[in-house]
Amino acid sequence: MSKTQLGIQESYDLLTSYGIVTQGRLVTSRKEAIQAGDDIGYPLVIKAISSKIIHKSDIGAVQLNISSQVELKDAYDLLIKNIEQAGFSDKDLDGILVQHMAKAGFELLVGAKQDPSFGPITMIGLGGKYVELYSDAATGIGKLKRDDILRMLSETKAGQILSGYRGEKLDLEAVIKLTIEVSTLMAEHPEIQELDLNPVLVYEEGLSLVDTRLIKGAPVIYPTSTELSSEKLESLKAIFDAKSVAIIGASRPGTQGGVILKNCLGIKKLYPIHPKLQKIHGIKCYPSLKDLPEIPEVGVFAVNAERTVSIFEAFCKMGGKGAIIFSDGFAEVGRIDLEERLKALSLEYNVPYIGPNCMGVIDNFSKLNTNFIPELRSSAVHTANNIGIISQSGGIGLELLEMFAADNLDVGKWVSIGNASCVGVPELLAHMGEDPNIDIIAIYLEGIADGLKLMEIGREVSQKKPVLVIKGGIGGGAEAAMSHTASLAGSHEAFKACCKQAGFFLVDELTEDPKILVNILSMLISQPKTEGDRIAVVSVGGGAGILLADQVTEEGMQLAQFAPETILRLRNLMKANLAPNKLENSEKILESIGHNPVDLFGDCGDDRLLETLRIIDQDPNSDVVIAAIYLQVPLLSEYLPERLLELKSELKKPLIFSPRGFSDYVNRCRSYLYARKFPSYTVPMIKPLSFVLKIWDRYNVSFYKGK
Ligand code: ADP
Ligand code: MG
Repeated sequence: MSKTQLGIQESYDLLTSYGIVTQGRLVTSRKEAIQAGDDIGYPLVIKAISSKIIHKSDIGAVQLNISSQVELKDAYDLLIKNIEQAGFSDKDLDGILVQHMAKAGFELLVGAKQDPSFGPITMIGLGGKYVELYSDAATGIGKLKRDDILRMLSETKAGQILSGYRGEKLDLEAVIKLTIEVSTLMAEHPEIQELDLNPVLVYEEGLSLVDTRLIKGAPVIYPTSTELSSEKLESLKAIFDAKSVAIIGASRPGTQGGVILKNCLGIKKLYPIHPKLQKIHGIKCYPSLKDLPEIPEVGVFAVNAERTVSIFEAFCKMGGKGAIIFSDGFAEVGRIDLEERLKALSLEYNVPYIGPNCMGVIDNFSKLNTNFIPELRSSAVHTANNIGIISQSGGIGLELLEMFAADNLDVGKWVSIGNASCVGVPELLAHMGEDPNIDIIAIYLEGIADGLKLMEIGREVSQKKPVLVIKGGIGGGAEAAMSHTASLAGSHEAFKACCKQAGFFLVDELTEDPKILVNILSMLISQPKTEGDRIAVVSVGGGAGILLADQVTEEGMQLAQFAPETILRLRNLMKANLAPNKLENSEKILESIGHNPVDLFGDCGDDRLLETLRIIDQDPNSDVVIAAIYLQVPLLSEYLPERLLELKSELKKPLIFSPRGFSDYVNRCRSYLYARKFPSYTVPMIKPLSFVLKIWDRYNVSFYKGK
């Protein structure tokens, strides 16, 4: 069924049934127009209605401000002439719509369409002729509530105007009511693929719809279930908790099954399944599942797709709780039949699986680790902390892990979801949301098939803990994302709306480098929480401090203005610290001290730097200290890193320490500090800090576990 424009009467009936008031009468002759005009009352507007004419006013098919019968006759003739000149005939027209000329008002756009993964999405923004040029619309997903609409309006210029930007009063409540009605209509009519109300004229009291367009087509089918069964969540817990694990396809080193087995050696009840071998890594092997001394709770599958399906069936029948299917050769290579078989078995026996075609799970609490990259080739993170990672891409997941390892950060749980035909991001989000060990969740996403579920579950989880999201495939990458995940990528606007409605922190810029996410997580878990966004920048070597200070304001944070006593203390410190050759100019030098950013000059020694950090930590007017330091300068000693460690335990405020440059010496100092859980930062650093401040502000908890 191709898309068609709904006839005016049909669309008016539908809109009216949702309480949306329309106006005008459709006529097919000049005589009828005159009659309608008399009934409706002057001044009038007439316009041609046709599915072939999209922008009516562009071709003179809208005649405004008609004040008498005489004018109406002329306007009617002119309208018909204009239409003919534009190449349309009578046959193309549904008719001529006669409307009362509404008084001028603020022109708003309310529009909606159906998205294949989120269902109805509704937009509000500046309306009128220049909609595309303004591109001011904000998007909301599903049946909208009042709060959703207020959130949407807060993102648009239209919202600012509606809330009285120039002191005008406009009927915000009427706009909210209309938007709720539109979203409800769309949710209940998946065959209405597009809906356009442009303009909606908004007044001090009430509003008027003068142009409505509804497009009908085949109903858009989108996953509507947002439910998660408690059994599925319980089984997921069992997978992560992994009391006993059978590895189907376990083998000697040099194979993928071999690597997985080695990585899982921390599990006490580990059962390698191998048709011939007696022992691997000193652990007894079993020829098949039925030979095991007990029913394994978790099955890890590293055999080909066909064998996976048949052994998974046996695993389900014997009473296994959950599986991690690392094997590939399913939907991603066109074997949808095999993937469907897995799904059916999982449903029939209530045994969920992660994967297939994934890198599986690392749970540093239970020691389950199905990563198949040999340790020598990657860097492992073996210690658990409060961070959970969900990645739709194995590669990005791996890269994040290696970035964590490089900064000596830990990780609690890590999952690569692969094809996600049974357990997807929503399920894992719900699982980590309920896990008391996990305080922060970070997700790398490409396509999302069941968008509504993600949003609904996300909404609940993000009330308890922060959820950070990086999204791949927003434009050029979309096709790759689709084939990779075998799921449809929702349009990026809809996805952004999903994140906003769910309360996710979407890392929307700089996503070229996942380091931004790593730095956000690093700051969250290694810095004490602070209340405000007043940033103090200290530098040894002025330029870096200036660049960072610029970026601070660019990212919407404030540069702290030090309290008078802080300035005095800083000046006294500098006075006592000035080199003999600078004493002559001391007045001038001291005058410059106390401005933010603070430059401590190239002749800075350990004491000047450390004491400055201490003084600013005590300044009542600043919340965060950023230190951009050239450790290379001659008077900073090799003991500085050690002394910094000591100082850090004393400080009350976050210290974002950024040693500048990349010399061996600088890298050595950084490694020394990393090894002692004192992270330092390079770019991107200020943007992550802005996220961290927002997260502290929303959740008002510290994720930093001790000194
Ligand atoms: P189109 O968007 O196809 O060009 P519209 O029906 O939206 O056609 O008309 C174009 C413009 O004319 C509207 O943006 C609005 O400013 C004005 N207009 C149309 N109908 C009316 C009306 N009944 N009362 C007042 N102004 C109108
Ligand atoms: Mg219009």
